[in-house]
Amino acid sequence: MLKEILQYQKLDASLIKLERELENSETKKVVNKMVDQVRQAQNKLVELEKSANRLLADYERLKQEFEKKRNRLENLKKVDFKTRNENELRENSKDIKQQIASLLSLNKEITALSKKIVTTLDDFNKTKAVGLQAKNRYAESIKNYNSVAGDKTHKVSELRAELKKLEQHIDPKVLNRYKSMRLDHKFPIFVPLVDNACGGCAMSLPTSRLDILNKQKILECENCHRMIYLPDMD
Ligand SMILES: [Zn+2]
Repeated sequence: MLKEILQYQKLDASLIKLERELENSETKKVVNKMVDQVRQAQNKLVELEKSANRLLADYERLKQEFEKKRNRLENLKKVDFKTRNENELRENSKDIKQQIASLLSLNKEITALSKKIVTTLDDFNKTKAVGLQAKNRYAESIKNYNSVAGDKTHKVSELRAELKKLEQHIDPKVLNRYKSMRLDHKFPIFVPLVDNACGGCAMSLPTSRLDILNKQKILECENCHRMIYLPDMD
């Protein structure tokens, strides 16, 4: 099994190298930038829509208030002044003045709010256009990336298929351990014994551990947790 494991690790190292090259390529960076731009535009659109809805609700509320006050003013004006005494007339006129003042102030608020709504909608449309542009540029950058990286991505799929085949010959326990360490970016994972020490972290193995290694052929390093193997087993 050791032979397969080492072959697996060798192929995997090529895969890691290729994946890193692809990820760091200039064309991939452009793709990533476009993804960011599209996402940013989408987030902004969501926020703008929320605030537009809030503003419209405010607008409706103010308009209703305005209508209520206007009706009240109409009613005040309908009063038959002949039936009122001087005091009542004075009260009535004061009331009318107050209603007019609050109507004027409400009107001002509504105008200001309308302006805000127009600005928000304008911002929304502009952001939508920016997002659309970013989406088009994203599609273009993906095309560009695929044409530049085509050979490499093809090689990546090939390597993945080969690794999958090799996996059938490796103890699942060892394989799982390997995969979880690969996620931690600890590479290589299988290291030879070098001068009775771990080939990964160089920590010396005591005789008792060496005995176990000789028996098991593979031993986990107590320090770096890599798998140590006997090189002459290869
Ligand atoms: Zn070690």
